[in-house]
Amino acid sequence: MTRADILVQFDLHGILPTPQRLEIAEILLAKPQHLSAELIIERLRQAGSSVSKATVYNTLNLFGDRGLVKVLSLDPERRYYDSSTVPHHHFYNIDTGEFTDIDEDQVRFNALPRLPEGTQSESVEVLIKVRRQRD
Ligand SMILES: [Zn+2]
Repeated sequence: MTRADILVQFDLHGILPTPQRLEIAEILLAKPQHLSAELIIERLRQAGSSVSKATVYNTLNLFGDRGLVKVLSLDPERRYYDSSTVPHHHFYNIDTGEFTDIDEDQVRFNALPRLPEGTQSESVEVLIKVRRQRD
């Protein structure tokens, strides 16, 4: 995604552009991928950026809240930011910590539970946890 594309996305999602936000978005939105805050910080450092950790965390929260990226939360300690916001499912490899996308049409449901009273369905996402095969 070019800087111009990112500015359009910021505008669509009501995000004010700052140099730090642009730097972070350029890394995360470069391609379909799933990155943790730590990985993004590592890449920023490699690129010679001095954006603070706190700014990275705040920016990622903002991107998630505004729907610019999708937040994949395994637990409060382990969050990944998904640059693809179209509905899809995931494989999660517990050996490597990597997510792989599964197209939405590759998963079918023939039964879903009744929703709790007073709620409506927002999305249904499948996370298939995999590990290296053991002989
Ligand atoms: Zn994904």
